[in-house]
Amino acid sequence: KKITIAIDGFSSTGKSTLAKAIAKTLGYVYIDTGAMYRAITLFAMRKGYIDTKHFDGEKLVEALDEIDVHFEYNGERGFAEVYLNGENVEDLVRTLEVSQFVSQIAEVKEVRKKLVQQQQNLGKAKGVVMDGRDIGTVVFPDAELKIFMNASADVRAQRRFDELVVKDATIQYADVYKNVVERDHIDTTRKDSPLVKAEDAIEIDNSNLTREEQYDILLKLVGE
Ligand code: C5P
Repeated sequence: KKITIAIDGFSSTGKSTLAKAIAKTLGYVYIDTGAMYRAITLFAMRKGYIDTKHFDGEKLVEALDEIDVHFEYNGERGFAEVYLNGENVEDLVRTLEVSQFVSQIAEVKEVRKKLVQQQQNLGKAKGVVMDGRDIGTVVFPDAELKIFMNASADVRAQRRFDELVVKDATIQYADVYKNVVERDHIDTTRKDSPLVKAEDAIEIDNSNLTREEQYDILLKLVGE
């Protein structure tokens, strides 16, 4: 029987790597909800609604109906990529710059409402692995399997830094560390659906686990 798997947790805990791997094995659909918040962030940056000095949340809310975020499966890469108003932004949304604004965008109630609704529709068919911050608590409180991932801030920042530095050699570890900690802070203290472990979620601290070990743990939990 196909189920819904919710994977939540702190920034850069490797949620998407694990979710992608398990979805592939099970033949499930994988949905990266962070990519949706990132796409809206890119839109706001391009429109000048947000920068290091100001954030005009009202303008963004007014423009929400003009924003289409959706996924299209890329057979070569083996997962669905995120699109912003018809443009493939899968790689553009992964920059440190987008990461520096995304948690502010994700605090906006109307943004969350729009995306949660869309995520619930995407997950209507069973056989879905969804990762994010509020999947087990808000999007799918009835998910059959809920995972909550954590790791030390150092380990998480190092992993994210390793990913980013191959694309941009000027990236500094200290900036990545600061971003990871800042996002966790905003995500856990925001008013609307803050990041919190669902009561019935199974916690995995992967500070000292390899990808294979995490994968094996999850596969056992699924019961395969
Ligand atoms: O998962 P990822 O790190 O790409 O998510 C980027 C940001 O989007 C998070 O730091 C968080 O602020 C926001 N987010 C959220 N709810 C989700 C997924 C992501 O608030 N379900």
